[in-house]
Amino acid sequence: MRFNSRVLSLTVLGSGSAGNCSLIATSQCRVLVDAGFSARQIAQRLEAIGVRPETLDAILITHEHSDHVAGLEIFCRRFGTPVYANPLTAEILRRGSLADSSGWNLFKTGGVFSVKDIEIQSFYVPHDAVDPAAFVFTGHEGSIGLLTDLGYAPKLALERIRHVHTLVIETNHDERMLQEDPKRPWSVKQRILSRHGHLSNESAAKVVAAIAGHQLRRVVLGHLSRDCNRPDIALETMRRYGIEGIDLFCAEQNDVSPSFSVTRVWRSAVGDQVNPVRGNSDKYEQTQATFDL
Ligand SMILES: [Zn+2]
Ligand SMILES: [Zn+2]
Repeated sequence: MRFNSRVLSLTVLGSGSAGNCSLIATSQCRVLVDAGFSARQIAQRLEAIGVRPETLDAILITHEHSDHVAGLEIFCRRFGTPVYANPLTAEILRRGSLADSSGWNLFKTGGVFSVKDIEIQSFYVPHDAVDPAAFVFTGHEGSIGLLTDLGYAPKLALERIRHVHTLVIETNHDERMLQEDPKRPWSVKQRILSRHGHLSNESAAKVVAAIAGHQLRRVVLGHLSRDCNRPDIALETMRRYGIEGIDLFCAEQNDVSPSFSVTRVWRSAVGDQVNPVRGNSDKYEQTQATFDL
């Protein structure tokens, strides 16, 4: 894959409740966010987009749940990729055989650091992990927010993502599908719905509505539950909120997304593969006015 020199790009290698992994890149730098598939799967998906796994500059970890770190240990052992995590998350991950790995870089949640020419702002999100983090990546020409695994979006998280050009956001479940799901016990449903669980389609749509109108040009939906959501429902929920002028795409568990280029000057990078959101602006204004954080 050829990356335009100054342009930040996003490729979701796969996203869903069974595994998450994304690539943020410029021509100088390649950063993987999470490693929630097997090492072999991650390597295959990278190779499918022309990226050699040994050329990665970093793997950033959002939190220690297995759908974000399942392949980390073997991938790092095989390719020697430096890992970036906050101290509490690193402590948990290093209890395994990653303890001897020397490639650990610790960041403080809430702080800013850089990997080559990509600046990374980390911030706390409410989720049932030791120190869950989300990120905003800024390159020369734009920024990408990555916001998954959170029970709700606190004000600080909204402030952090308010000016991003592209946002990856969790649309974990449709609330009715979750309530009616026969497989999950009540306690699990309560955990998912809690303030330290996951965003529903509606909650995610409210977050997008709250920051639309600034710089936001593209939204990528991710981390969908296999049993309690469907891409068409998640996309339709966004449309119901009437957010205009924003390209929408739903990431899949088993497919690599197109590579989205992120620039300050908007141009659609993937043409027909994204669906413009259409809706009515009255609804949108109402959404903004009544959005309660
Ligand atoms: Zn997750
Ligand atoms: Zn999680």
